[in-house]
Order: sequence, then structure tokens, then C-alpha cells
Amino acid sequence: MKCQNHPDKEVKGACVGCGNFFCEDCLTQIHGKNYCKKCIVELAEKTTQERANPPAAQPIIIQQNQQQQQQQQQKPKKDSEWGTVILVCCILLFIFFLIGWGMSHH
Ligand SMILES: [Zn+2]
Ligand SMILES: [Zn+2]
Repeated sequence: MKCQNHPDKEVKGACVGCGNFFCEDCLTQIHGKNYCKKCIVELAEKTTQERANPPAAQPIIIQQNQQQQQQQQQKPKKDSEWGTVILVCCILLFIFFLIGWGMSHH
């Protein structure tokens, strides 16, 4: 059998990517498997695309943004609750002060 790219050369093996037979010049061994030049380019493009756009990275960023938005929405609510607690404490202290002042003068 002859190589697809080189009709004068005998095939050395089959590409694991496309299954076509190629000669020694056309095949490259990666991790003990034969790849043709076309499949190496496709493999490289696939790897660089996955590195440039990791599928798991975007949902995590969206979740972080949602958590930040929830925290920002909850914060003012907590502040108003604390403000109410402090106001009640001040009123109670003022009432106790008035009672204590009134008792000391009668
Ligand atoms: Zn191939
Ligand atoms: Zn060849």
C-alpha cells in the first residue's frame, strides 16, 4: 500500500485520528500513537481553543458575580437592622436615665 501524500512511498502505519494510512514522513508519533500532519494541526487547534476558553471557567465567574450581587443586596438590609437595634438601645437607655433622674429627685 502507498502513502496518500506520497504515491512512491510505502505506508508505515495508520493515523489514529482519521484512520488513513501514511508513510514514515507523514506520520508523527505522539504518546506512542501515530498522527498525520492534518490531525496534528486539528489536535493543536483543539488544545489551544480549550486552553483559551476553558469550559468550566465561565460558570464559576458567573456564580461569583451572583454571590457578590447577593452580598451587595443583603448589606444595606443588615445595616438598617443594626441601625434599628442601636436606636432601640438608645431609647431604652434614655428611658432608664429619665426614670433614674426622676427617682433621685422625688
Ligand atoms: Zn490523520
Ligand atoms: Zn507520506
